[in-house]
Amino acid sequence: MKKDDLIELTIEDLGVDGEGIGKVDGMAIFVKDAVPGDRVQAKVMKMKKSYGYARLMQVLDPSPERTESRCAFARQCGGCQLQAMTYEAQLDFKAKKVWNHLIRIGGITDLAKPEIIGMDDPWRYRNKAQFPFGTDKEGNPVTGFYAARSHNIIPCTECWLGVEENKVILEKILDHLKTYHISTYDEVSGKGLLRHVLIRKGFTTGEVMVCLILNGRTMPKLTELVDSLREVPGMTSITINVNTKNTNVIMGTEMISVWGQDYITDYIGNIKYQISPLSFYQVNPVQTKKLYETALGYADLKGNETVWDLYCGIGTISLFLAQKAGKVYGVEIVPQAIDDARQNAKLNGIKNAEFFVGKAEEVLPEKYEKEGIYADVIVVDPPRKGCDTAALETMVKMKPERIVYVSCDSATLARDVKWLGERGYEVKKVKACDMFPGTVHVETVVKLSLKKDAPKIEITMEPDEESNYTPQEKAIYSKIKEYVKDKYGVNVHTSYIAQVKRMCGLDMGENYNKSKKENPEVKQCPQEKVEYIKDALRYFKLI
Ligand code: SAH
Repeated sequence: MKKDDLIELTIEDLGVDGEGIGKVDGMAIFVKDAVPGDRVQAKVMKMKKSYGYARLMQVLDPSPERTESRCAFARQCGGCQLQAMTYEAQLDFKAKKVWNHLIRIGGITDLAKPEIIGMDDPWRYRNKAQFPFGTDKEGNPVTGFYAARSHNIIPCTECWLGVEENKVILEKILDHLKTYHISTYDEVSGKGLLRHVLIRKGFTTGEVMVCLILNGRTMPKLTELVDSLREVPGMTSITINVNTKNTNVIMGTEMISVWGQDYITDYIGNIKYQISPLSFYQVNPVQTKKLYETALGYADLKGNETVWDLYCGIGTISLFLAQKAGKVYGVEIVPQAIDDARQNAKLNGIKNAEFFVGKAEEVLPEKYEKEGIYADVIVVDPPRKGCDTAALETMVKMKPERIVYVSCDSATLARDVKWLGERGYEVKKVKACDMFPGTVHVETVVKLSLKKDAPKIEITMEPDEESNYTPQEKAIYSKIKEYVKDKYGVNVHTSYIAQVKRMCGLDMGENYNKSKKENPEVKQCPQEKVEYIKDALRYFKLI
């Protein structure tokens, strides 16, 4: 086989990126846009030693899993790798991908194929779209999407993943550009005015936002454009984003209000969000709600727990958890996301969520080593590369009862699950969630629990370390011990009292729970003793 050869093959499998895989003379051939079960004719594009790539020329005998792509541009765009597959087959592919990763990489032997949460209607689920503007050969303004791996705009105002308003809005803007001879931005020369248009819609509120991204600060005849856009039902916010840099970063940092509010409002569950053009917000709110409800279910909160939400973004999961937890701490690397998280907490009157800016792998170890932080449950939702080992190491030291792992990449999830499995955490539940129908992407939630027979880390706090406590603390600690001993007949360690005080949000002062050892690993207070100590704290009117 060599380049340009025409071959015939049956597609047997799908690669992780959604490309069909078949065999010719024992060699694996990857054929984009082909579906398992298809008999196809393809043209060889590139051959390597033991595999090759071919271009789909003709479907000779279609697979029962093949369906008509709804979008005429599905192949050129490349955004929806699986659009030619029935939705059931897409879901099955995604569930199997997660399953395979957890078995092969995660080393989990007794796992049934995970359930996958699909959409009732897998179209028009995106609440956000950014359309590039340019000019065609005849000099007419165009908008659409970039052809795969290029910056050539394919004219198209109708993407089936986006809302119907997109088309109406884009056509109004194109008309405006034509009527008033307004230029579009040219990436090569850096000249021209309109670069992109961002459209967002609040699915629960119906509010619509348009943001014009300009190589400048205003647009000719802006009032006329605003009047036209205001006719779109739900229009709430029209703004300009200034981006005069010659860069392919879409948005600049400066925002100018044009009409209405600078933001739209939306809800996920009963949590309200204010979304400005620059804020991050999940693009499929319907599935996000289902995903986070699953995560919340796996966290199994009773109301008093301390929960850490690592990689918290704008706090979507944190605020969900806060409704059921005693206290939630969120950690996120992007400062603006934390500003949004704090603002969203305020907007919803949520007072038991606190947020820290920084890397999870730095913030968590530092807080653990310096402040002896505690967690009943840790939730993580890391980027594709998964959790950093330093973060995982600290999580294990903190010995939360449960870890809920939300992931957009099941391969790195499986790697981390294996690592946690070797340190006492076993997978209890797995669910996949289809946040991006039509594409190969899939989200997964895993519930891990600390095994009951996990090797206990012994208390490293020696009795003499109690000298770390102030005289007042020591006095109250011995009273609590005496009270518990008298009432319940058991001894409680000072470190347990410190843990329970911390759980109850009592200020621990500087010296609580400090060990002379570098890395104090304090055994977790058993639940019944937590209750005895809480009783004592109540008795002494400390809580
Ligand atoms: N749970 C969030 C989104 C998680 S996406 C939500 O629902 O909104 C992953 C997040 O991790 C991103 O917001 C990214 O900025 C953040 N991130 C990436 N690396 C990080 C790190 N090392 N420490 C903390 N946060 C990180």
